[in-house]
Amino acid sequence: MKINVNNTEKFENRHISADEAQIDAMLRTVQANSIDELIEQTIPANIRLSKSLNLPSAQGEYEFLKNFKALAQKNKVFKSYIGLGYHPCITPPVILRNILENPGWYTAYTPYQAEISQGRLEAVINFQTMIIDLTQMEIANASLLDEATAAAEAMHLLLAVKSKAKKDANQFFVSNRCLPQTIDLLRTRTAPLGVELVVGDHLTIDITNPNLFGVLLQYPAKDGEVIDYTNFIEAAHEHEVKVVVAADLLSLTVLKAPGEMGADVVVGSAQRFGVPMGYGGPHAAFFATKDEFKRQMPGRIIGLSKDAQGNNAYRMALQTREQHIRREKATSNICTAQVLLAVMAGAYAVYHGAEGLKKIGERVYGMTQLLEKGLKILGFKTKNTTYFDTLTIEVENKEVQQKVQKLALSQEINFLYEGEKYIGISLNETTTIVDVSQILAIFALAMQKTIAFDVDELAENIENLIPENLQRKTPYLTHPVFNTHHSEHEMLRYLKYLENKDISLVHSMISLGSCTMKLNATTEMIPVTWAEFGNLHPFAPKEQALGYQELFTNLEKWLSEITGFAGVSLQPNSGAQGEYAGLMVIRAYHLANGNGHRNIALIPSSAHGTNPASAVMAGMKVVVVRCDENGNVDLDDLKAKAIAHKDDLACLMVTYPSTHGVFEEAITEICQLIHENGGLVYMDGANMNAQVGLTSPANIGADVCHLNLHKTFCIPHGGGGPGMGPIGVVEKLVPFLPKHPLVEVGGSQGITPVSAAPYGSASILAISYAYIAMMGAEGLTNATKMAILNANYIKDRLKEHYPILYVGKNGRCAHEMIVDCRQFKQSAGIEVEDIAKRLMDYGFHAPTVSFPVAGTLMIEPTESETKEELDRFCDAMIQIREEIREIEQGIYDKNNNVLKHAPHTQNVVIADTWDRPYSREKAAYPLPCLRRNKVWATVSRIDGAYGDRNLVCSCAPIEEYEAINA
Ligand SMILES: *Cc1c(COP(=O)(O)O)cnc(C)c1O
Repeated sequence: MKINVNNTEKFENRHISADEAQIDAMLRTVQANSIDELIEQTIPANIRLSKSLNLPSAQGEYEFLKNFKALAQKNKVFKSYIGLGYHPCITPPVILRNILENPGWYTAYTPYQAEISQGRLEAVINFQTMIIDLTQMEIANASLLDEATAAAEAMHLLLAVKSKAKKDANQFFVSNRCLPQTIDLLRTRTAPLGVELVVGDHLTIDITNPNLFGVLLQYPAKDGEVIDYTNFIEAAHEHEVKVVVAADLLSLTVLKAPGEMGADVVVGSAQRFGVPMGYGGPHAAFFATKDEFKRQMPGRIIGLSKDAQGNNAYRMALQTREQHIRREKATSNICTAQVLLAVMAGAYAVYHGAEGLKKIGERVYGMTQLLEKGLKILGFKTKNTTYFDTLTIEVENKEVQQKVQKLALSQEINFLYEGEKYIGISLNETTTIVDVSQILAIFALAMQKTIAFDVDELAENIENLIPENLQRKTPYLTHPVFNTHHSEHEMLRYLKYLENKDISLVHSMISLGSCTMKLNATTEMIPVTWAEFGNLHPFAPKEQALGYQELFTNLEKWLSEITGFAGVSLQPNSGAQGEYAGLMVIRAYHLANGNGHRNIALIPSSAHGTNPASAVMAGMKVVVVRCDENGNVDLDDLKAKAIAHKDDLACLMVTYPSTHGVFEEAITEICQLIHENGGLVYMDGANMNAQVGLTSPANIGADVCHLNLHKTFCIPHGGGGPGMGPIGVVEKLVPFLPKHPLVEVGGSQGITPVSAAPYGSASILAISYAYIAMMGAEGLTNATKMAILNANYIKDRLKEHYPILYVGKNGRCAHEMIVDCRQFKQSAGIEVEDIAKRLMDYGFHAPTVSFPVAGTLMIEPTESETKEELDRFCDAMIQIREEIREIEQGIYDKNNNVLKHAPHTQNVVIADTWDRPYSREKAAYPLPCLRRNKVWATVSRIDGAYGDRNLVCSCAPIEEYEAINA
């Protein structure tokens, strides 16, 4: 027999889990003769693509990694002393391997199901506690997308909490010593709100100006100066002006905290707490404020509450502020929010503790002093009278500046060059005396001098010369969690202890409708932690990032091909940011055409909460369009509203297939109607997993669309971020794609930036790149088909047990479906939440609860689950239906049954007393397979309302913490 030596393994067969026999069995269940027949019955013929995608042929995993390493090596990792909010740092290896490279952490979902998320909730509350301590503020969130957007969110908050005296004030002042990307992003965010942005010197500002409502300051300032803002803030407060301070987290280990200066909000980036620069991200930004503003605080807040046994338990607090509930009245559109990176930064603080962090901060400060002393001896002047880690050196002229630049580049070093004669140098955790000597040697050489002093000797005489009023006096990180895990074993075990509390994709399928929890393949993840991707500064010269440029160019091309659009921007850091970016592009287009008055956004009532929240941020007015009883956009209502608003229609925001999991037949008609009335169509691309290769946003008639790369394109959810939300646009919108003040990107008339970094969280783009490169056109298309088959299989297995809401005209769903649980309230007193909690006892994370329809579950299996796993999930759902029937039949009481008491912890089941009407076995092992493999919830049902009434957003009180850990 011949052997086929070309028979290399296809990644597609690893990503798509079902084999042929399984597919046949599923086709029988859904009563289709072939997958293609099923697809024909699902997707309207008029929107199907006529030809297959034009993408490079699929690469095997081994082959891909080899090729991709060659691409990565086109990036040159120089030593970066550029600063501006991004610094080289050391990721403790125990954190690198056990968090960043660990699917137990990175494949988890946002902790909405708190009882099976206690590990990451504790990790995130450590982050919040660290932020509260270091900034000396009363409350902190976890977390935001980057420092610049955090500053913009702070501006929003100040706008929302203006005092009566300032109710008409619309001026926001930004110090010109703030980071340039922050200033530019504030231009983007203030313009549509009618807020006037004034940039200038904070010392010459007229604080009595009645029109001024808020101020943003940088600490330390961009040039490195450490300014005591206490008096300034006091004066501002006297005139009812509130103040945001953008602070460097590491500096706060040795500098007076902004909270002690009276700041109203403190924002910044936690990047240098162990998270690689990644050419711009991802990193967690922080946001801390006063207790009185907690209800206006953007983003997620983790809080302490009680479970049904009265034990401490964590969960997300004050969720009623969020866009899911508040929609166009939400405090912000933030959804995906860098949780994994907040977990890492919090772990960095746990690992180092107060003493360790202080040492790092002091060392960085000390190195900077050493550098300053050396430069002074060499005859250089700095602009700084104070500093933490950054010096701005004033050289004689452009010629010297260029000489330094040339010498530095030849030694693979980046400084910051500004104006004719300034050179900025920011030191960091990795800087050694040898590095400082090297920098000094460059400056000496530029002046044709030699170093006539011993740097080591100089290093022996470093003292704390920070002015008394700016020195850190208040303690921080006093909680035991920051003082017990400093040995590697303790840290390793603490991280594993936390990880083991949570359900992630390493346990079972997470069938979250709309969130597309598919395989995050190891091969896709490996390059993320390569130094060639991790250690590049986002503002390093482009010549050093040729590998990244190639990655971006290819990925943009591929995403254009997949969406059918003419251009792509990789800047937005999440789906919601993509929405905002896309709407701002639409706004810019209307403005450029003299249609600035077009400001109405039509949004169907079934839309995701981020849609209306983003529209409001983009200065639009939301007009809600009804849905009909089949879950489709009510065409008559849409038509009436499009025509009524034809003179000021900006756009329609529509999700496709709809949030109800159906390919609406009328979509092309809908797009046409909007265009006829002068509007553009924004498509929410969260459901792209049902489109890739079969149809496309452009084909359907949309003008703009974001892609959640952390859904359809395999970036893991990280427990609530990172993510990426690039946008694609039609030809006429390409000129308006977002720019960046420091790196050339975007269109000729591009909007100002929507993210701090030019390519958003650049390093994780490698994941989506890998996915597309390894799947190829056929693999991607097969994935879409299988996602649709798997969903229809679940639907047909469950439909005799639960009503299925909404299907297409042939009775098919798209890649997800909605299971109606509302009738059980009447029949058995059971709410959808009880079913979600009972699923935990079966080892499953619940599907999406109550979105887009209250009282329902939305199930999305994705293509990367086997039939066996789908069956396990269906068996659990069916068994739960039987448990509900037992209540309906009166066997169990409506308030005392296995669903109401779910989830069941080991403590409850093993306790000596058991007074429940059902057996312990029924509680813990409702299906036989659980005896082999059982995941236990670690807390009982959590009382969310208790936690909101008694809001605690930092680590458990010390006595209780010690009692638990005794
Ligand atoms: C996930 C999702 C979003 C928001 O995306 P993020 O990346 O979380 O900001 C918007 N719309 C829909 C339909 C979604 O499912």
